[in-house]
Order: sequence, then structure tokens, then C-alpha cells
Amino acid sequence: MNVCFHTFGCKANQYDTERMRQELESRGAVAVAEPRAAEVCVVNTCTVTNEADAEAKRFIRRLHRGNPGVRIVVVGCSAALRAAEYQATPGVHAVVEGHDPLTVAEAAAAGRPLLQLSARRPGPGLLARRSGGTRAWLRLQDGCDRKCSFCATRLARGANRSRPADEVVAEARLLARFHPEIVLTGIHIGGYGREVGCALALTRLVERLVAEVSGVRFRLSSIEATEVDDGLVRLMENQPQRLAPHFHMPLQSGSDRVLQHMRRWYTHEQYRRRVLDIAERLPVLGLGADVIVGFPGETDDDHARTRALIEELPYTYLHVFPFSPKQGTYAATLRDRVPRHVAALRGRELRALALEKGRRYRARRVGTPAHAVLESGGSKALTEDYLRAHVRSANGEGAPAARRVAHAVLHGDADHLYIDLSLPGRANFNGELSVP
Ligand code: SF4
Repeated sequence: MNVCFHTFGCKANQYDTERMRQELESRGAVAVAEPRAAEVCVVNTCTVTNEADAEAKRFIRRLHRGNPGVRIVVVGCSAALRAAEYQATPGVHAVVEGHDPLTVAEAAAAGRPLLQLSARRPGPGLLARRSGGTRAWLRLQDGCDRKCSFCATRLARGANRSRPADEVVAEARLLARFHPEIVLTGIHIGGYGREVGCALALTRLVERLVAEVSGVRFRLSSIEATEVDDGLVRLMENQPQRLAPHFHMPLQSGSDRVLQHMRRWYTHEQYRRRVLDIAERLPVLGLGADVIVGFPGETDDDHARTRALIEELPYTYLHVFPFSPKQGTYAATLRDRVPRHVAALRGRELRALALEKGRRYRARRVGTPAHAVLESGGSKALTEDYLRAHVRSANGEGAPAARRVAHAVLHGDADHLYIDLSLPGRANFNGELSVP
């Protein structure tokens, strides 16, 4: 059986697709890139906004029109919340309410349409490799116990469930055989172990990974500022080549009033203090955040507070989203909507500010050393602080793919960083290349 996959949404979803692919391959299926070569297409959906749901439906309709013979298996977050709508969509063979690879594999192999299968809790199992990627994702936990008023992900994914530390370490060992970097991901990784009352579980886990899994760099995916403890920062300070000094810490708003309506649990001052403390200790730091503009009731003054906070903090990039009411969430019931053009204007303003801050940071990095993981067949590199640089080598082509990590000096300027691998260097573990 030939199977193709299409994934919407975040790294956690991409990880889940890889587990499904691996399960199907272990049962003799062959993963193919093109739907026209496939008998089954697994569509892993996202429900972060109403638009994400609509996009998945448009994709499924197009897929069926272009490939009427393909059995479509719809899985993931949007499928968990809108199973009935997907069941009624032409071409859909099965709807799996969740991400469990075993259920998806059974649905894909079933000769007759199964339509709705509940499978919210992925079973045990280890991912050995991410197909076609230099970096691997490793999901530490699923679900979230917070109740942010705009978020539907927690509705789809359920309560916080952490994977056992031994299982995570074993999976990291497998992935490290093929990937120079592993991104530790999840729906709310700061919640790791908290459902069993262990507040330091994430730090202990990362310490174990760094100590027990060699030859690979780890990177944290999105983590809440209030859930970063000193142990994590210390690891980045002491071993930046093993734990990338990069935090993506959702801010959402710089106004306490708006944060309260969003049902976030911190004030702008708590966030600010945490970030400044971290930045003081990590001079090389990739720092990103999510910001929502135009949340219901957001005034010019609220927006000015967000802007002022962003100006002050050392962000290197931002993801700015206009508020989009999501069916089923409390925020969707709020009145006092901000007109679309006002939200768009605020978004443009913050994006421009973030771009300028990013440029300034990159300009400061020129002439300084970086640990770069080589991507795209060796033509691009990703630094520990999440900068993308081009790779120059003696013959003008990318570096050989075997040279997966380089210690090199960043050249160029704020708009075009590059590392030069044509300089004499010395290879070591994993084909790692040191360039003085
Ligand atoms: S912390 Fe808030 S935004 Fe993040 S997954 Fe949990 S409920 Fe959603």
C-alpha cells in the first residue's frame, strides 16, 4: 500500500505524522510524496484558528477532486473537534479523533470506510528517524492544563500528559543517530511532569538528555517565560553547543488588562523581569515570541504597552497574529471586537519593529563564532541562536552533507549572513567541522 501524508500546523503535529508514517511503514506500507501515486492519504489537521479548519477542508476537497480513487484518512486536532463535518466530506474514508499511530494505521488499511474513530491518546512507541529532515522533532508531552481564553488546541488535545523520561531518552538516542539537532516539542512543554506534581521535571529531563545522549544538539520549542527555571538557563550558559540558547516565549500582549482577558497567568512585569534576567546571562540568545494583536477590547493604550515592551526586550524575531475568534473558545464570545483594519495596522507596526530588532541583532553577530547545523544538503546553516546563514565552500556549492555541524565565524551583514567552509577546517564527531 502506498501512503502519502499531508501535515498542517505545529511541530507537535509534524512529530505525530512521523510516528504514523513509521507505524504504517512497519506494516509494509510505502510512503510516497505524491497523492497520485498513493492509495491512501493521511491528512493531519490543525485547529488553531477557524481558518486552519477551513484550510484543511479546502485541501481535502481538492485532494479528492484531483485523486478520486485515494482513500482519505483525516486525523489530528481539527478532526478531534469536527469529526462529523469531516465524515460528511466527499472522499473521506476515515476520521481519527486524535493522533494515535496504531488507530491511524488500522484506519488506513481498512477495506471499508470506518468514518469515526476515537483515538486521543497516542500509545507508546519510539520514533527512530524523521524522514527528509536534518533536524528531528521529539514530542515530550501532549495536551495542556491551562485555560487561555483564545486557545482551541487544549480542547482538541486534552489534559497534560507527559512521556516517561526513560522513553524520551531512548527516543533521543535513536534520533541522534541520524539528526544533528533534536527539537524538544509538545503542546505545552513547560507543563512536563507537572500533572504528577514535579515542577522541575523538564529541567531534569533536559539535563539527562544532555548527559546521556551524545553527538547531538537539543533545542527547546515554545516555552512559557514563567516556566523557564534557572537550571535550563544554566545549561545554555555552560553548554551552548548541547542546548541551543534560544527561547520562544509567548508574550501575547504587553497589557495586563488584555492578558487577564486572555486568561494568561502572568503580568507583563513578571514576563519582562524573566526575559531580562535570561538575556543578561546569555549574550548570544535567539529570542522569539507570539503576539496577538486586536484581541477583543484591546485599546490604543494596550497596544502602546505591548509595543513599548517589545521595544525594550531583546527579541530577535516575533510571530504576530491578528486575533481570530475560534469557535468553542471563551474569547470568541467576547464583544468589543477590534476592527480588522485596526488589528492589521497594529500587526504591521509590530512586525516592522521585530524585523528591525532582528536586523540589529544579526549585525551584532557578524564576526562572532557560531555553532551551525547544516541544512538543505549543506547549503544553509542554522545557528544556536536561530539565525539562518548561507554556506560558502571552496567550490561554491554547499558543504558535503556529511559535515552536519560547523563551528564557524559568521560573515556578511544583517541581511545576508554566511559561514565560509572553504577555510581550512578540521572534522570531528558526526563530520563536525571546526573552522577557525
Ligand atoms: S498555554 Fe494557553 S495557549 Fe498554550 S496550549 Fe495551553 S491553553 Fe493553549
